[in-house]
Amino acid sequence: MTMRMRVRTTCRICGGSHLVRTLDLGAQPPSNSFLAPADIAAEQAFPLEMHLCTDCGLSQLVHIVYSEDIFDDYLYLSSTSRALCQHYQGLIDGALARFEPPAGALAVDIGCNDGIMLRRYPDGRCRLLGIEPSSAGKYAREAGFEVIDQFFESGLAERLAASHGRAALITATNVFAHVDDITSFAAGVRTLLADDGVFIIEFPYLVDMVERLYFDTIYHEHLCYLALTPLDHLFAKVGLRAFRFERTEVGASGPALRLFVCRAESGRATEDSITAMRADEQAWGITDPARYRDFAARVEQIRDRILALIAEVKAKGGRVGAYGAPAKGNTLLNYLKLGPADIEVVAENNALKVGKVTPGSHIPIVGDDSFLASGIDTALLLTWNYLDFFLANSEFIKKGGKFIVPLPDVKIVP
Ligand SMILES: [Zn+2]
Repeated sequence: MTMRMRVRTTCRICGGSHLVRTLDLGAQPPSNSFLAPADIAAEQAFPLEMHLCTDCGLSQLVHIVYSEDIFDDYLYLSSTSRALCQHYQGLIDGALARFEPPAGALAVDIGCNDGIMLRRYPDGRCRLLGIEPSSAGKYAREAGFEVIDQFFESGLAERLAASHGRAALITATNVFAHVDDITSFAAGVRTLLADDGVFIIEFPYLVDMVERLYFDTIYHEHLCYLALTPLDHLFAKVGLRAFRFERTEVGASGPALRLFVCRAESGRATEDSITAMRADEQAWGITDPARYRDFAARVEQIRDRILALIAEVKAKGGRVGAYGAPAKGNTLLNYLKLGPADIEVVAENNALKVGKVTPGSHIPIVGDDSFLASGIDTALLLTWNYLDFFLANSEFIKKGGKFIVPLPDVKIVP
């Protein structure tokens, strides 16, 4: 199947045309497009570039691969992560205690996946509704939840407000950054939110990404890299207002910002921490291209250090593989222009990926057992955010293997 792409020339939040390219990661296939070796000849790649809107401060991709064309057969089921279940339990318990929605009030989770968030509500506490256009929604439906299998936008919100009433709580975790028409999404939230309702979103925070060099979170499925300043613009446009935030170290893709949003005219006071964050982002240079040029320069340094380390291991007679085949690993492999000559194989325990090759870099993916049997002694850890877990638990390390950790600091452990 041929994938289609379109290019934006205006900012997806403010509509302005002052877009500046801040980071160029080269042409890459969509990061979840693992492929059979026979399909390599037909593989497509698209520019992966971050652009900054100097008007509202939104960092975004302007090359948009049609989401319906992205081959994604590796169904991600959130509930398989115990850490994530615990994390969302904290979110729901905290929201129910803090905002005390009336018993039986409507609570909506947008992008509900297999129902991981809906399952966190005490039985009978709220009327629950999930929205999930992907096939993961069937697992939430099988668990007894009502699930709408459509993309959330303003038209759907109007129909739902008419059929279900308005919601006291709306949650959307790691969804916002995937949406091209983010204005229609936000307008829909405004429509569906009760007068005193609360909308809770969670997303990786742009300032963290830049400061900690998490550039591998940039890939075609992630269209926006969010911060408060551009979101202020968005919310003001549709009649919403951010009034509180929390920082979390765990999230679906690492550390995240949890933002609490209400209708603009709601009686909820905007907390001082929000005002402070706005000022911090201005002082940091959220709309200043120089801030991101510095980021790009540091990303290049990281690239050179990783390549030097791999070369060093090989010069000493070592054999190098990679560990884990997450989507973000492909941004790293492709930006570094690594291939099977550099990295022999990738170890991955998702059976659907084993036997395929990584998109763009075409490195064969093998199961953990074959990896152990291969005699590879050093592995580039692509799932570096789980370093502690793999150091403690992986057979590869127990048998004397070493990890090259690419981010946030390049190093070899143990
Ligand atoms: Zn803008």
